[in-house]
Amino acid sequence: MAWIVKLVNIGAEGEAQATDVMEISRPDDLRNVADLGLTLSETKRLLAGLQHEMVAAQVRTHAVRRPTCARCAGVCHVKDYQDHAVATLFGRVTVRLPRFRCVACGGIEAGVDWPSHCRSTPELDQLQAHLCALMTYRTAADLLGQMFPVDTGKHHETLRRHTLKVGEALGECAAIRPETAASAIVVTLDSTFIRSCKDGERHLEVRVGNVETQFGGRQVFGAVAKADTDLQALIRRNLDAVGRTEDTALTAFTDGCPGLRRILADAGVAGPPTLDWFHIAMRLQHLKQIANGLPADDPARMAGKAVIVAEVERLHWRIWNGKAKDAQVSIDRIRAVMHHFKGEPDQRRSTAPARKLWTALQALDGYLTGQSAWLVNYAERHRAGLRVGTAITEGTANFLVNRRMNKSQQMRWSRRGADLLLQVRCAVYNGTLGSGFGQKFQPANDPYPPMATAA
Ligand SMILES: [Zn+2]
Repeated sequence: MAWIVKLVNIGAEGEAQATDVMEISRPDDLRNVADLGLTLSETKRLLAGLQHEMVAAQVRTHAVRRPTCARCAGVCHVKDYQDHAVATLFGRVTVRLPRFRCVACGGIEAGVDWPSHCRSTPELDQLQAHLCALMTYRTAADLLGQMFPVDTGKHHETLRRHTLKVGEALGECAAIRPETAASAIVVTLDSTFIRSCKDGERHLEVRVGNVETQFGGRQVFGAVAKADTDLQALIRRNLDAVGRTEDTALTAFTDGCPGLRRILADAGVAGPPTLDWFHIAMRLQHLKQIANGLPADDPARMAGKAVIVAEVERLHWRIWNGKAKDAQVSIDRIRAVMHHFKGEPDQRRSTAPARKLWTALQALDGYLTGQSAWLVNYAERHRAGLRVGTAITEGTANFLVNRRMNKSQQMRWSRRGADLLLQVRCAVYNGTLGSGFGQKFQPANDPYPPMATAA
């Protein structure tokens, strides 16, 4: 049995013109399940055929129109025809378009508002960039080739070039301010690392962050250090995109890095950033795990362990309530019972868990001392319904950077390539790819993960 797929074009006066697009044939029985319905390769041919016919009809209709001159509004005549090869998601088409000359002033009219050197449709550009933001260039090229009758941009190098161009264009977008102003915005900034492809340069620093309003408006952003993207300007743009005004109260969170604090200050986020509770909570969690792993194989150790576990809990409570700027008190109290965790009586060395506890305690003390200026009363903020930090930044770093750029140790990046791809990834996450900057964010994950509010 066989089918003929016809495309019927309805003209302005309702007249119909039919074109055969494709013939499909099948055996007369269904003995082989592979003969059931359409195949992918037929679908690709069908789509390419439809695209071809549709474009041909559009070109025919376009060719009989005569634009008026943009300069003098005079009448235009056809000057010549030019071929444009345009890649579409459903195959490459060649479009023969007239160029016009104004009878009155001699000016040339194109008759179309296409971008200069237009070689692909915006939809294809956007889908390519979207896929490349989510998977490697090679995988994206393979996927496109498998699913669609695309015959240009199938090579991964081409996809890479296109995607970086989209990233560049995103950097030039201005923020679209939302209709409602935000009374408060929380800004977080963090950094992570990816491997560099340049000899003599091991890692590239990547700064990522997000801005959030109390009503769930959210944007993520990121930039590779020392690349072209101006992070300060990017932060300002993101603040604008979620409704920052002169009256907006800005709160910033970072990890302990002074470089990030400076960037926030330069971006106009005045007031000292708060040390993200998330970073402290992670260290306390680590300390608690070690304390719980201490041996309790005799009564003295059992008592000593109980003292240490309670002391770590107390330290947690004191930092949470803004009462500890270091861990010195805890260190002194724990030191008093540490001798129970020495090895056999004739050895001076402590057991491994005890040594680990001591190291972690000293590290936390060093961390708190270095960050003391940015510690706040987290309990008070929490009671007032204010954020104490955000695990979102960690999740954001994971999504924006690690999942695409760090997954394989083999993946190495150029500063520019990583920076521009990051712009595309942010746009994908923000839902703004291809629709202008600053569209409302659809949260992709739980806005309040447990770690952020853990007391
Ligand atoms: Zn004219």
